[in-house]
Amino acid sequence: MKVTFLGTGTSQGIPIIGSNHPVCLSDDPRDKRLRVSVLVEWNSNTYVIDCGPDFRQQMLTNKVEKIDGILFTHEHADHTAGLDDIRPFFFKQGDIPIYAHKRVLGELKKRFDYIFASENRYPGAPAVEEIEVINNEPFRLGGIDIVPIDVMHDKLQVFGYRFDKFAYLTDVKHVNEEEMHKLHDLDVLVVNALRITAHQSHFNLEEALDFVEKVKPKKAYFTHISHLLGFHAEVEKILPKNVFLAYDNLIIDV
Ligand SMILES: [Zn+2]
Ligand SMILES: [Zn+2]
Repeated sequence: MKVTFLGTGTSQGIPIIGSNHPVCLSDDPRDKRLRVSVLVEWNSNTYVIDCGPDFRQQMLTNKVEKIDGILFTHEHADHTAGLDDIRPFFFKQGDIPIYAHKRVLGELKKRFDYIFASENRYPGAPAVEEIEVINNEPFRLGGIDIVPIDVMHDKLQVFGYRFDKFAYLTDVKHVNEEEMHKLHDLDVLVVNALRITAHQSHFNLEEALDFVEKVKPKKAYFTHISHLLGFHAEVEKILPKNVFLAYDNLIIDV
């Protein structure tokens, strides 16, 4: 399985528009972070997790020619605002399958009503096939079981997804014990580490490291990173040897 980090930044991305923060001004390409998303590929299957405002650029940079579906974690704009840009895939492939919690499907319908309209459709509008994701109901994609992981982003429910020995969790603040059982024996865990200081709805660096200690994956990568985490090169130096900061366009084999 091949995992490409399409974006590893928090909601505003790095650099932030108009910011003179040193991390926003960094020349290190690893300090340039688009909004979070990953591409997961195995055999001939291609899925993306989330579809944020940088989706178009991410598809172009990585020369993605088809997608078999989009798995949504939650409805926040940094994870959903690029949905209109599935159009080129829709024109070639037809309705694009989207997998999400029922609540998230409802939110997408409000924001992109024209995509979901059943009549008087604008001819250029894309269309989707809705698939509801239900906790404790793994679903099969391309011959493997996808296990939804139900976690909390402050008071908002979010889904993480496990693909075989790989799990992707973002925008997490709390994970209960039952869900922790779904994360045993992972080769790679991806989880959010927003910044150094505490935050209401995201793990900071210390919480993300504690979480990795509990889950004990072979390797962990941090994502959904704010400029307030610091320079990539500096932060990586202080991490345990099996823990890494992800960066945009990093590709890993799982
Ligand atoms: Zn987010
Ligand atoms: Zn969020």
